[in-house]
Amino acid sequence: MRTLCSRNLPLSLRVKIGYKKSTMQTIVAGNWKMNGSQQTISSLLQILQQEVVNMATEVIVFPPFVYVPLVAEFLRGSQIAYGGQTLSEQQVGAYTGEVAGSMLQDYGCKYVILGHSERRLLFAESNAMVAKKFAMAQRNGLIPLLCVGETLAQREAEQTITVITAQLQGVIDVVGIDAFAKAVIAYEPVWAIGTGITATPKQAQTVHAAIRAFLAKKNENVAMDLSLLYGGSVKAHNAMALTQMPDINGVLVGGASLDAHAFVKIIEAFQH
Ligand code: PEP
Repeated sequence: MRTLCSRNLPLSLRVKIGYKKSTMQTIVAGNWKMNGSQQTISSLLQILQQEVVNMATEVIVFPPFVYVPLVAEFLRGSQIAYGGQTLSEQQVGAYTGEVAGSMLQDYGCKYVILGHSERRLLFAESNAMVAKKFAMAQRNGLIPLLCVGETLAQREAEQTITVITAQLQGVIDVVGIDAFAKAVIAYEPVWAIGTGITATPKQAQTVHAAIRAFLAKKNENVAMDLSLLYGGSVKAHNAMALTQMPDINGVLVGGASLDAHAFVKIIEAFQH
């Protein structure tokens, strides 16, 4: 994705002259969470397949595990990618209810969401566990879509960047910075998820720039090439403003991704 000339420029200069936007893969991802049925998923995919053709934007859907084979069948030959909403940190064995990275890969998944705040808060996933899952995803040829973000209390206590860098460092300690050359990061402020409250484009941009700067200190090329997504109540009406921010390379969409027409509008916003 990166151009040769942009690679040779210092980060600050590339930011200034606007090289960054053109060197990143733009991504619009839909996290369906625990929603849908064979019927609703089939109609949603039918519309997406018709609308998502020859797009430069990478479009990804994340169905519940049980519907991955259905999605795989539907999307055969389509440019739409799909993935799992989490995976086991184990490779194989007596782990009732778990799904291994190799199984996702077996069904053609390209991505896996890791560290979503619902997994961190409702299923007690620690930074260490997320790091193990990240390693397991890559071992099985999956691209981790790593979610980071602060709670409202943490934002109010001005701990946003501290919390997010700790979440990132926890993974870097285990897999190393170079592993991020094949990963995507989503900044998802917990207070904006499913609440209808979205971070302003400026608030999101500030955090995205801080994430990129944090990673750039460890490996500038990795930081420059990394797609940084924003997630948290993204809808058709607020997507366009997010596309204007230089460090927002796409979005991770929850609720609005269940409505095919709303999701297509968000994808179209990122086509400009
Ligand atoms: C999410 O859960 O990843 C998310 C961004 O949800 P929503 O768009 O519904 O806030």
